[in-house]
Amino acid sequence: MTTPVYRGRFAPSPTGPLHFGSLVTALASYLEARVKKGCWLVRIEDLDPLREPPEATGQILTSLNAHGLIPDEPIRYQSRRHDAYQASIDRLLKSGRAYRCACSRKQLKANDGRHPAQCREMSAVEEGEAHAIRFALENEFSRWEDHLLGPQEQTVTAELDDPVLLRKEGFFAYQLAVVVDDIDQGITDVVRGSDLLDMTAQQQQIYRALNTSPPNWLHIPVILNEQGQKLSKQTHAPALDDDRAARNLFEALQALGQMPPPQLAHASPADILEWGIVHWHRQAAHLTSG
Ligand code: GLU
Repeated sequence: MTTPVYRGRFAPSPTGPLHFGSLVTALASYLEARVKKGCWLVRIEDLDPLREPPEATGQILTSLNAHGLIPDEPIRYQSRRHDAYQASIDRLLKSGRAYRCACSRKQLKANDGRHPAQCREMSAVEEGEAHAIRFALENEFSRWEDHLLGPQEQTVTAELDDPVLLRKEGFFAYQLAVVVDDIDQGITDVVRGSDLLDMTAQQQQIYRALNTSPPNWLHIPVILNEQGQKLSKQTHAPALDDDRAARNLFEALQALGQMPPPQLAHASPADILEWGIVHWHRQAAHLTSG
């Protein structure tokens, strides 16, 4: 049996420009792919125009480019993939792994997370009533091996945890789109921040419901600011300064627990990436403080 060629990706949601935390994730996924002699892709997860300033995608792509993080295939945009997401939803509805749900968040909360309309059992949605589509999870005590964090255990509870696949407002949800595209792009290895660790067991069920084996997973510690919060748009993480790309990459390597020699800080982005590939020590990323 031949091992499939490694295919990895960096999949930012364009809610703002690239910040240091997202650079660290991008760099980790890039280095893993290069060390494995695989392909590295970039996918823009632009599913929610209300949260995405129109200039963010361009800023992210310019920044990646300035840092020498050049993907091996054309960029994919989730905003152009609605037909594929709808087709997967139709498939899941047909196989009974998805259902229509008109419950409001308030109703679910008031009912301890259970669906008052028993959405799974009956088609309680009236003609023309606004509704979401949810995935019907199976109860599962899931065990899997993270390629950095080691053995993982997660409990998934049917009904209570059922994730939304298509939101009432008509936007496709991350949980669906990420799996549909990772399958479609033949992604063998997902490298991403550990803030998404909790999503993994649910995503594994969605993979299986779409008749595909889940990929390998590797979650890297998230980068925290001085207040101990995850660097993100919500915590006002500053945009990366592309004019100091080399310095940013050098610091991103350090954040991943790598020990670049001080003189490397003055090298070009391409040379810093090359050093990172030659010296990549994955386990060191686990030992970082994040
Ligand atoms: N788009 C997601 C985010 O920016 C990441 C998706 C993933 O890597 O699975 O948080």
